Amino acid sequence: MMKVYSFPQGGISFGDPDSPPKDRSTVAFLPGISVISLIQHAGDRAEPTVSIGDYVREGMLIGRARGTGSANIHAPVPGKVIRMVSWKSAGGILNDALVIRMEGAFELLGKPEAVHPWEGLSAFELRQLIADFGIVEMEGRGLPVAEILAGKNLQAMPGNVPSKSGAGTPLTLVIRCVFDDPWLAADIVLCRERIKAVVEGAVIAARAAQVTGILFAVTRGEQALGKALLAEAESYNISASLALVGSRYPQSNRRELEMVLRVYEKGENLSLGGMIILGPATLAAIHDAVKLRKPILERYVAVGGSAVKSPEVMKVRIGTRIGELFAECGGFIDKPKRIASGSPFLGRAVADLDEPVIKTTYAVFARLNSHLGERRTQNCISCGECRLVCPVGLDPEELYKRIQTGGDAGGANRCHGCGCCEVVCPSHLPLIAAIVNFTGREKQSV
Ligand code: SF4
Ligand code: SF4
Repeated sequence: MMKVYSFPQGGISFGDPDSPPKDRSTVAFLPGISVISLIQHAGDRAEPTVSIGDYVREGMLIGRARGTGSANIHAPVPGKVIRMVSWKSAGGILNDALVIRMEGAFELLGKPEAVHPWEGLSAFELRQLIADFGIVEMEGRGLPVAEILAGKNLQAMPGNVPSKSGAGTPLTLVIRCVFDDPWLAADIVLCRERIKAVVEGAVIAARAAQVTGILFAVTRGEQALGKALLAEAESYNISASLALVGSRYPQSNRRELEMVLRVYEKGENLSLGGMIILGPATLAAIHDAVKLRKPILERYVAVGGSAVKSPEVMKVRIGTRIGELFAECGGFIDKPKRIASGSPFLGRAVADLDEPVIKTTYAVFARLNSHLGERRTQNCISCGECRLVCPVGLDPEELYKRIQTGGDAGGANRCHGCGCCEVVCPSHLPLIAAIVNFTGREKQSV
């Protein structure tokens, strides 16, 4: 039996009966009207390359990356650009988008896929293709993958930064198939339906970053998937291994994942060196960019929640409005109290059902109860639950009280915002917002 590696303290095991089934996907309707956000990545808004009234082809470049952290944007459908729209997200971030009315023929959809050999390309050429097709991490803040693979210094952007690498030291590409949250259903389905693309994408990424090997980090309970990934990798001339990790949230978080992989490394007498960590949706997108010369036109999205009649994992064109996805899942049972994109732990409130699916939208949910963040708060009852679940070993109660009273809350800088403390707090205190705002203020004052 394979050993399972888990982080030592805190965390939460949870399921959600209102998340979609993980054994199938459905294909969403093509949107008559698409809203293509110019910010689908961590950095600056892309610069539009088309104007109102222009006709665009499927897959055509319509927004050009502007500097580090920014990424190219492509038209997911053919049609006419009918207007530009701007809106403020619930978090106060200003978004701009091009609105495309679908018209004309699809050049890629439904056609035989032209396959481009990539084995003769250099690491630089592979990264260039990945950048040209606008590939970003398909979750989180959407860091451009070419920058990650080039090992650019992204210290100003917390997230996926190769660690402890340097000349002469090994570098490992970690394939994160860690499903510690039922709202990662889209990634599970993608792994099953597109396993060849995920593995070939990993091998391409490995070549583009010139890593010494790849490591599949797979949640316990998905051992069969892990073995299938490993078997698929055997047909390539690359060193590959498999580590089983725990399923307690936030095992998929970079800190907790790297922590357990260091224990695995020691136990197996390996030398992993620096780690680049990428998820399966990102790897499939790398495959499509390099082998099929296709930008990100669609993605898998988990759609559900207690307010939704028939939750599903759907294959969705980028730019589809979130309200249309709920409608395709049978609509609402009753008026939802909370609609959000992402996981219930870290989800971002959706202010308007016309907000579109972007490259990083892996889940959208609508709940009948307001769940996190919107319930009536009460005074702290000093139950200590928040301390028990904090994987970093912080005392969120103490930090919260110090922040409220203007005291010394320096330890807050170690918080990585996993949300465990807030989920378990019976007084519904906004612990994450308080801590994150405090650390933001601290950083600004430095
Ligand atoms: S979980 Fe909430 S109520 Fe309990 S000690 Fe922590 S902050 Fe206070
Ligand atoms: S204090 Fe930060 S790291 Fe600890 S549980 Fe809360 S959000 Fe997670």
